[in-house]
Amino acid sequence: MKIHNFSAGPSILPQEVFDEASVAVKDLNGSGLSILEISHRSKAFVDILDEAVSLVGELLKIGSEHKVLFLSGGASTQFAMVPLNFLNEGASASYVDTGTWSAKAIKEARAFGNINLLASSKEDQYRHIPKGYDIPSGDAYLHITTNNTVYGTQFREIPSSPIPIVADMSSDIFSRPVDINKYGLIYAGAQKNMGPAGTTLVVVREDMVGKAERHVPSMWNYKTHIAKNSSFNTPPVFPIYVSMLNLRWVRKNGGIEAMEKRSMERAKLIYDEVDRNPLFTGTTQKEDRSRMNATFLLADGYRNLEEEFLKQCKEAGISGIKGHRSVGGFRASMYNALKLESVQLLVDVMRDLERRKG
Ligand SMILES: *Cc1c(COP(=O)(O)O)cnc(C)c1O
Repeated sequence: MKIHNFSAGPSILPQEVFDEASVAVKDLNGSGLSILEISHRSKAFVDILDEAVSLVGELLKIGSEHKVLFLSGGASTQFAMVPLNFLNEGASASYVDTGTWSAKAIKEARAFGNINLLASSKEDQYRHIPKGYDIPSGDAYLHITTNNTVYGTQFREIPSSPIPIVADMSSDIFSRPVDINKYGLIYAGAQKNMGPAGTTLVVVREDMVGKAERHVPSMWNYKTHIAKNSSFNTPPVFPIYVSMLNLRWVRKNGGIEAMEKRSMERAKLIYDEVDRNPLFTGTTQKEDRSRMNATFLLADGYRNLEEEFLKQCKEAGISGIKGHRSVGGFRASMYNALKLESVQLLVDVMRDLERRKG
């Protein structure tokens, strides 16, 4: 049976990416060698890495001021690596707290310098994106999480900021256009919307690196990775390869504009049903709803149907719909490769529940 994967991450990738990657595990481009056994210094891999870097540059319209890196350690390593490199002792950085992941980034950053917490939606159980705060122009950077994977909210508009923005785009990178000039650094763990787990995309403005006053160990220094083209040590060869295949797929299927259009269609389909169906209710402020992770609950009076709904989903071939353990309810993660027909199937199951129990 075909399984419709709504998992928040690691998550769905296009079938053709799985097909190509599985061929390369046995024999990369007819070389007689597996992608798993080739040297990271071989021409075959250097070409793959170069293509991945250039696809990121093309898709996100990145100019020469920014460098594209493929690192390891996940997005979580960036929570500390950003302040380690950019926040000198005694200096300040601004953060906006919009959920679990921003809170973790803030916690890590506090060890390095002064943190200005400009706004937080924690008191509101992170149901909205705060707006209307002042950004201190003397701070080293402003950190935001553009899409809150756990709570299902998303910055519809990126704040206009007098200082470079550092953005955790783990769960919405390559789903909408990026105005690169706003950003000092963008990071994203691959396993949400770019590729398999094991590599982290970093796009960094080169003139911001190398200014730390403290000692920064080589592996945690952006400067090292820029100088060595992400190959100071052995890079995550296979995750970079599969990410490259997926970025090729994104380009072939219309690029970022097409991905954004598809994400809007999926989001409209699911949220229209959440709003229409009396058995369900949304969990977040409507204007801040995420197009990538749609969170919803059973409405009052229908809460006892949770197990039944999950069972119906399972029988229909829908996987990964259970909400994050800290929020409960349901979460439909709808990354680039998810087809509209998968969302339609989920909507059909919701309607079926209404017919039987409403
Ligand atoms: C999943 C996620 C992370 C954590 O990523 P790791 O690669 O597991 O460290 C960080 N930020 C956001 C927004 C995420 O969705």
